[in-house]
Amino acid sequence: METLKKKKVMFVINPISGVYKKKNIPEKVAKYIDYVQYDYSIRFTQYAGHASLIAQQAVEQGYDVCVAVGGDGSINEIAQSLVGTETALAVIPYGSGNGFGRHLHIPPRDVKGAIHVLNTGKTVKIDLVKSNVKYFVSNAGFGIDSSVARRFKHHNQRGLASYAWAMVKELLFYFQPFDAKIEIDDITVEGSWFLFTAFNGNQYGYDYAVFPFTSIKDGVLDVITMKYFPLKKLPYIVICLMLKRPDLIAEATAYRAKKITIHGNKKMVYQFDGDAFVYHDDVTFEIVPQCINVMVPQDLSSY
Ligand SMILES: [Mg+2]
Repeated sequence: METLKKKKVMFVINPISGVYKKKNIPEKVAKYIDYVQYDYSIRFTQYAGHASLIAQQAVEQGYDVCVAVGGDGSINEIAQSLVGTETALAVIPYGSGNGFGRHLHIPPRDVKGAIHVLNTGKTVKIDLVKSNVKYFVSNAGFGIDSSVARRFKHHNQRGLASYAWAMVKELLFYFQPFDAKIEIDDITVEGSWFLFTAFNGNQYGYDYAVFPFTSIKDGVLDVITMKYFPLKKLPYIVICLMLKRPDLIAEATAYRAKKITIHGNKKMVYQFDGDAFVYHDDVTFEIVPQCINVMVPQDLSSY
């Protein structure tokens, strides 16, 4: 009888994402992984960008699966190296918001549950979004979220409560709208923007989404733009966003697009999968349909 060849899995653990300690993850991996299917290795990241290098080495060494243990930022780093290869991305969501994992119904901060997906799940192809900066997996853009993310970078406190508080402070004391001209396929819009976000996955994280549903494999980006508004309208706008009804907001417009070009001013702060940075030149987004293998739960039918 022919013996089944075991698959090789690389776990890449970011020891500092989110507020949660990850010291006992290797023990949990050892306890729950299916040894009949898998041989595995574990590596810890030591600096920003290290996860991309580890994932690239995993591809070169013929690993079948590379598991991101961390937040959307860690997933982003690893995806950069797996796009277009046979090595599949798997996720143990361990960040603060975990938008990508939640979109794919992989339970956050649950090693046993996430490894169950690895043991019993299926591999599917999903879209990524290529830009002149880097790829993103979940969402990217600029506005109130990127401003908060930039300020948040230097906070020790993470989690939903401190994020909400950071957003209130940002709105009351610091936030300046972003002036930009944006080409969304063949439509051009111009203005002072409160928010511009292009979604591949539909979640910001914390189970929050602007749209009720978006597909991560339909070859199209779902885009929300929101012009700047008087602060007195904020309660109404927050309620509409909570209800996932951006259509009720006069300043908001939704688009579906494959290609976007942002001509911003010199002080643009972008966020890519929650990671904020300043970028001075034009930024392009282009969806690359079904270009990366991802492990998802066996019973996940729409995603
Ligand atoms: Mg889509």
